[in-house]
Amino acid sequence: MKGEPNTSKLRALPSVDKLLHSEHGAILAAEYGIQIVTETLRNELADCRESIKAKLYDHASFFDEKHILRKAESALEELHRSLLRPVFNLTGTVLHTNLGRAPLPQEAIDEVMAVMSGASNVEFNLTSGKRGDRDELVETWLTRLTGAEAATVVNNNAAAVLLVLNTLARRKEVPVSRGELVEIGGSFRIPDVMARAGSKLVEVGTTNRTHLADFADVMSPKTGLIMKIHTSNYVVQGFTASVADRDLSALARLHDVPFVNDLGSGTLLDFSKYGLPKEQTAFEAIQAGADLITFSGDKLLGGPQCGIIAGKAELIKKIKRSALKRALRVDKLTLAALNAVLKLYGNPDVLAQKLPSLRLLARPQKDIQNVAKRIATPLQEYFKDDAVVSLSDCKSQIGSGAMPIDILPSSAVKISLSRSSGKKLGLLATAFRGLPIPVVGRIHEDAFFLDIRCLEEQDEKRFVSQITQLKFKL
Ligand SMILES: *Cc1c(COP(=O)(O)O)cnc(C)c1O
Repeated sequence: MKGEPNTSKLRALPSVDKLLHSEHGAILAAEYGIQIVTETLRNELADCRESIKAKLYDHASFFDEKHILRKAESALEELHRSLLRPVFNLTGTVLHTNLGRAPLPQEAIDEVMAVMSGASNVEFNLTSGKRGDRDELVETWLTRLTGAEAATVVNNNAAAVLLVLNTLARRKEVPVSRGELVEIGGSFRIPDVMARAGSKLVEVGTTNRTHLADFADVMSPKTGLIMKIHTSNYVVQGFTASVADRDLSALARLHDVPFVNDLGSGTLLDFSKYGLPKEQTAFEAIQAGADLITFSGDKLLGGPQCGIIAGKAELIKKIKRSALKRALRVDKLTLAALNAVLKLYGNPDVLAQKLPSLRLLARPQKDIQNVAKRIATPLQEYFKDDAVVSLSDCKSQIGSGAMPIDILPSSAVKISLSRSSGKKLGLLATAFRGLPIPVVGRIHEDAFFLDIRCLEEQDEKRFVSQITQLKFKL
């Protein structure tokens, strides 16, 4: 009869119970829990039955107890593998939003560790024994560094902008220059945020030129606030004009509404002394008349993901009373990390050594080149005749919409395949991403580039030791 040999094979399959009570099965159950192991073994046995019916198997050992348990173990390991993993960011974009933006300094890690495993005074005043205010934990440093009267922290800068608009300009008009209607990647678009906050956007001026009179013309009792937005990820060049902060601030005062400045990247220090472009600092923005400023914690500031709102005490008080603030607040781990990072700014002389994001951004090209040279050798040894590994000067980006242009002279390892095709280069990139610590580079002009700016000497060994595990065939 057709299929008869299969029947005996199917009958010979071990039962779930037998597998569970084997030595290996018991070990798996103890580690992963009996329920999930049972479920996994059932799935494996179902697969076996399918393969037998379809005659899809190499040899009989495919169905023995040992083999089924080994397959179940791989499936369980896969299920338990952490999905959020460290990677090597060799893309050339230092503050890469998709790769987690700023790496945190050891000081922040220590402070997070100290509070994460137990109770802490996140909202408890140790002096009075009464309920405390979580913002106070970082307010001392935030006001000191920005020159603002008060500050509060929320989940990210998008939340900060939303909260400010919703609290101070709900059902009100908000004039914004047409040159500043930005879209930051990942669905943050000023017109949409305005709508979500319940504010009415009033576009003024033109894309390239906006004057004070354009703002003055639209001011009315319906105006809730005047907003300026940092054009983080693009530059308007040529025949341009924008209104100075001072003038916008004076106009806002005249109409008794706040002037809000969304700075995007929070620069707390003039980074030009580290060879980076000059950006308006938070302190300067407050000095120039902003009643409130908003900025990210994990862009140029180099801290954890969060959004900071700083400015007039009376406005901050209003914002903190909003129900939306409660929904957007940050947790104790963020506050611990942020405070540690802010404290580093207290000593600018060692900031560039201690704050990883700044250290990477200010890293001399020579340093980068030295590491690139050293790792090129084992890479060439791995690829043999399949590829030519060489050094190439390149330019890194700051990232996160801070400075849209490539500016930082850097050094890359360039891998050119001997027989190149777009498909093979794609597979090469995939192979690098498949390493235990995935390596993310970029394909450019028919080669695969690893910008070494973010590979520091202390990580070099970890990088080199996994090269032999690359799975690539030309
Ligand atoms: C980046 C940016 C935002 C959004 O900040 P997130 O911290 O990513 O939420 C808002 N406004 C400007 C001008 C930005 O550059």
